[in-house]
Amino acid sequence: MTEQTYPWAARYEAGQPLHIDPVQPDMLSLWRAAVANDPSAAAILYFDRTLSWREIDDRAEALAKHLQDNGFGVGDRMALYLQNHPAYVIGLVAAWKAGGIAVAINPMSKAHELEYLLPDSGAVALLCHDDLYTDVAAAVLAGGATAVKTVVTVNPLDEQTRDDERLFAGVRRNTTPEGTTALAAITADAPAGRVAEHTPGPDDVAVLTYTSGTTGVPKGGMNTHANLAFNGTTYERWTHLTRDDRVLGVAPLFHITGLVGHICAAIVAQCPLVLGYRFEPNVVLDILREHRPTFTIGSITVFIALSSTPGVSADDFSSFRLIYSGGAPIAPAVAERFEKLTGHYIHNAYGLTETSSPSHLVPAGARAPVDPDSGALAAGVPVYDTVVRILDESGNELPVGEVGEICTSGPQVIPGYWNKPDATAESLPGGELRTGDVGFMDADGWFYLVDRKKDMINAAGYKVWPREVEDVLYTHPAVREVAVVGIPDEYRGETVKAFVSLAPGEQATPEELVAFCKERMAAYKYPRQVEMLDELPKTTTGKILRRQLRG
Ligand code: AMP
Repeated sequence: MTEQTYPWAARYEAGQPLHIDPVQPDMLSLWRAAVANDPSAAAILYFDRTLSWREIDDRAEALAKHLQDNGFGVGDRMALYLQNHPAYVIGLVAAWKAGGIAVAINPMSKAHELEYLLPDSGAVALLCHDDLYTDVAAAVLAGGATAVKTVVTVNPLDEQTRDDERLFAGVRRNTTPEGTTALAAITADAPAGRVAEHTPGPDDVAVLTYTSGTTGVPKGGMNTHANLAFNGTTYERWTHLTRDDRVLGVAPLFHITGLVGHICAAIVAQCPLVLGYRFEPNVVLDILREHRPTFTIGSITVFIALSSTPGVSADDFSSFRLIYSGGAPIAPAVAERFEKLTGHYIHNAYGLTETSSPSHLVPAGARAPVDPDSGALAAGVPVYDTVVRILDESGNELPVGEVGEICTSGPQVIPGYWNKPDATAESLPGGELRTGDVGFMDADGWFYLVDRKKDMINAAGYKVWPREVEDVLYTHPAVREVAVVGIPDEYRGETVKAFVSLAPGEQATPEELVAFCKERMAAYKYPRQVEMLDELPKTTTGKILRRQLRG
């Protein structure tokens, strides 16, 4: 087995152990430690608002009490259908205080997607923005196929809600729409009677994060408290985060990169989290100028967009100590351009939902080498306590330099998918994750990604699984056959394209099919291009030749 004795350990981590014990075994204990340390210190900086650890804790307490009063019990799920808003942290902590599990739902999700995610997770409570409730969720709940009994809404961001109490002044709804009762919002007042607070065990599930993994079906990754506590601590140790840091939260919080690289890292380091509703370069530039963050991790497109925004200068980035990019490949030329403008080297971070974010990081201050053959920038070296093997098709371990599937085990690897034992057995045999990423390790212990075994499209870190898009297109009456592939895109890295053949006698234009998909799925998923073919290319056994379609 390839144990962690790579030369990088001596080169970059001199004097630092490769093994770490999380300070606390669960996220709620870490949260309590942060609140107890300095209750009045800033926990979240949100535009003009500063929310202290105490204020967030009080609001989480009020929400947890409300959940419990409405029958939410240990192990129950609350879906968070939210942008990067302080309510996200409140919702997480409330779910944990009430003994439950948070379900991270992409706020771009449309009704069609909620109709799958809410019943699949068995969520009994929903925390979302008022507009997402009225525009999307209300109809889904009225459809009666979900178990949601309690809905709590908070205002979305607008000019009025930025800096006053209206931030949380959504309507609290006790039941599904028919029984709607307007109540106070998530208050900062101490609730009547304290919540029956639960201390989670390390192996209890903290958050369900949806991914399609190596197969097409969306599955709830069971990120346990120990998984999140471990990788939150990994960020803190690896990047030397302290209370003096400010973590900029530009990655979406529903995604594992934001959940762990922003929320968990800031909780472990007990430092403020700087949030900006959703990524808009001009707004984020203002935030950089006002709140002077020191650390962030985001997708490479965030840094491309920021560095090409008119008026940007190196000063805007001068508060940063360290910048990481994760979730998608970094083109070396893009990283160079960013460094020339800002003076900051972008450190690569590699991981999956199933590894609770990083399994590999470029050590702080190190520069990742570029593989001379593929031109790929190294994804990093394995983080603490993480063992990574490269396996061939038959499951044999390959030596240094040979290309195979990256397989990862460590304290951050999830125990499985929610209610999907077959998919768990397939992707996590014996607890080791088959990542579906194809790569190799060089003699210095750097890992490079060169291909993918899985049918995933990586659009700027947003993952699209062809099967999900194909399933929607197949519901269009004119479509006979469809294959969705990723094609190169200058800005997003890859983008979604559908090849369609129509049923005999049927008519549909590419524009119509694009619009059909757009209505039914999150904005990053719908095909940007549709090409009509009389027949899709196939092997002699009838399998669609996706590689040929990719061109
Ligand atoms: P997700 O579960 O959404 O985090 O997606 C995980 C997938 O994103 C991995 O299996 C990789 O294919 C891809 N990925 C993550 N980080 C990187 C990176 N630094 N470079 C290239 N691809 C990455």
